[in-house]
Amino acid sequence: MKAPAFSYARPISLAEVMSLMTEHGEAARLLAGGQTLHATLNMRLSEPSILIDLQAVNELKGIERVGDVLRIGAMVTHTEIETSALIKKHLPLLSAAVPHIAHRAIRNLGTFGGSIAYGDPAAEWPACLLALDGVVVAVGPRGERRIKAQDFFTGLYSTDLQEDELILACELPLRTGAHAFAFDELARRHGDYAVVGLAATASTNATGLHEVRLAWLGAVSQPYRSTKTEALLEGQVLSDALITQAMQCLKDEMLTDADLTHSAAAKSHLAGVMLKRALHTLNQTATVA
Ligand SMILES: Cc1cc2nc3c(=O)[nH]c(=O)nc-3n(C[C@H](O)[C@H](O)[C@H](O)COP(=O)(O)OP(=O)(O)OC[C@H]3O[C@@H](n4cnc5c(N)ncnc54)[C@H](O)[C@@H]3O)c2cc1C
Repeated sequence: MKAPAFSYARPISLAEVMSLMTEHGEAARLLAGGQTLHATLNMRLSEPSILIDLQAVNELKGIERVGDVLRIGAMVTHTEIETSALIKKHLPLLSAAVPHIAHRAIRNLGTFGGSIAYGDPAAEWPACLLALDGVVVAVGPRGERRIKAQDFFTGLYSTDLQEDELILACELPLRTGAHAFAFDELARRHGDYAVVGLAATASTNATGLHEVRLAWLGAVSQPYRSTKTEALLEGQVLSDALITQAMQCLKDEMLTDADLTHSAAAKSHLAGVMLKRALHTLNQTATVA
């Protein structure tokens, strides 16, 4: 199938984007890298009358350190994240996750903001944003607002972003002290969306794991943090008994969804195995900032 007819605008400033959004309302759709939108247009799942292309808007670009956060512009591509020294240094979880996103051609065009806005439960960036306590910076006619990742993803492909808002950037706090991360994903073929994946972070010291974050992709119908299992692990020193307890807690807490190839029970089992591996990694790989 081919996309329905639409008009096309290529604004060069945020102010121009906002004005086009106000003028066209629900009939407009923002175009980032098109790596999801083109497919939905071709399948006629979406029939906007105008596309507002964000490619030329400089305010949405760039990765920069601002105080104690790293700010990633909405139009930063997956490849830019992959090659960024700042990301490698401060947010190595993202560097570990990015090779799992599709293939080179898609990573060259697909954007961080597009992925967060789309809120695919099987995508890597929403889970990483949750694991890193990230904040979405949205802008609309009422000005800017900051939404914590934990409040941003509200359901299957649904987010707290309002019709008249766009994502400007995401802010990810820089860690201090000893911190560790683990990223693991099972996909049918490399580059496919995850069957199940886990983005995990923690601070570590002699008294155990702290600020544990366990964010899942592909497991349930939205990007998901298993907060009960996180709480069970908080402040604990890792042991075989604790790992067994955590795996049981996760099984009870996270009611996995089946997909076309894996039953809910299989996914739950895989998540348990991933949790066990991630906990060992967190325990062994702390780096000091
Ligand atoms: C074959 C294939 C395999 C893929 N595999 C993976 C994978 O394994 N993992 C993964 O995470 N992704 C995967 N993707 C998706 C890819 O990562 C996309 O980059 C991502 O979905 C976002 O697309 P985009 O940035 O091109 O945004 P677009 O497709 O242009 O937009 C997506 C949606 O977000 C909205 N939007 C875009 N930018 C903004 C903004 N700044 N503010 C508000 N709304 C906005 C658009 O209006 C649209 O509704 C795959 C895509 C393809 C085609």
